[in-house]
Amino acid sequence: MKNIIADRTALIDASGIRKVFALAANMKNPINFSIGQPDFDVPGPLKDAAIEAIRNGFNKYSQTAGDEELKEKIAANVTEQIGWSNPGVLVASGVSGGLLLTFLALINPGDEVIIPDPYFVIYKHVINMLGGKCVYVDTYPDFKLHPEKIEAAITEKTKLIIVNSPCNPTGMVYSVEQLKAVADIARRGDIVVMSDDIYDKFSYDGPAESIAKYYEKTILLKGFSKTYAMTGWRLAYAAVSDVLKPVLEQMTKIQQYTFVCAPSPFQKAAAAALDFDVTQYVDQYRKKRDLIYEGLKDKFEIPRPSGAFYAFVKAPGPKATAFVEKAIKNNLLIIPGGVFSEKDTHFRISYATADEKIQKGIEILRSLA
Ligand code: PMP
Repeated sequence: MKNIIADRTALIDASGIRKVFALAANMKNPINFSIGQPDFDVPGPLKDAAIEAIRNGFNKYSQTAGDEELKEKIAANVTEQIGWSNPGVLVASGVSGGLLLTFLALINPGDEVIIPDPYFVIYKHVINMLGGKCVYVDTYPDFKLHPEKIEAAITEKTKLIIVNSPCNPTGMVYSVEQLKAVADIARRGDIVVMSDDIYDKFSYDGPAESIAKYYEKTILLKGFSKTYAMTGWRLAYAAVSDVLKPVLEQMTKIQQYTFVCAPSPFQKAAAAALDFDVTQYVDQYRKKRDLIYEGLKDKFEIPRPSGAFYAFVKAPGPKATAFVEKAIKNNLLIIPGGVFSEKDTHFRISYATADEKIQKGIEILRSLA
């Protein structure tokens, strides 16, 4: 058969993660430290809000940019948290949807995007697929933001800087000083920043600040998936200040011809979610963070995570994949760092699981250290 597959598919490499899941296929009832979603369910009142929306007939397309009531609430939140008056808002199908729209609206072939490494996987593959060039800024071994390295990576082709705090996979929450330093660098170079704040509520040692607060040319992406455990509901939003409204207009136009709109009944539930207090969940996750960190810190090199629900840990031995294979043989599923990085030296733990499982996983890891 002649080759019917488009060339761009070759620009995406899913082999790392596929290899892990192939190894995991034979595991029976594993301790699963690989999952990127909360272990609690959608809070009851938000389920009710979705069911009520379906019963009340909110089942048709919404406006392309989102349900008016939800957009107004989001805009009020953004004004309060970031300080932008009258922000532009686009409700998207997950932050993944928002990321795709952002990249489609901004990136020409050859444009460079600065990505702190390690990074959330989607960035790399979508940018590559669009012919953009990922410029990785190494943040090992402390996984802080390293503004001076970001500055050194800028060229005349730099289009975008990505900031993800709290960070997947490292669990780092960047300090206000680091964020301000990157904001100043971006401002000097007139470069757009995309801030992926999907884990903002999961911040354990004080609130996570957004770079959007310090730089008006930021595309702010926030999600509902993690905060309210509704990963399958596919809801998020992009917000911008006045200066980037022309970009948001293009993102909305692209949404019109791709996703059309985010799921309508869930948009009603999202409006209720914005008033829902998740402190009790965050408190539970802070305890899980403490369990993991205290349980591993004397045996592994593990920068103390302050947010999200991940720890990024140095593997004993030169290759993290070899250590991950050993862990999987011992019934513990972790992800090799190479999936999130240009280096294969660390592994990612997700501690979004029951405390007993965390304890078990710690025991297995300690026995392999
Ligand atoms: N950004 C980051 C950093 C993530 O970890 C994830 C989910 N793993 C997403 C975006 C995408 O989330 P969603 O599409 O469910 O909103």
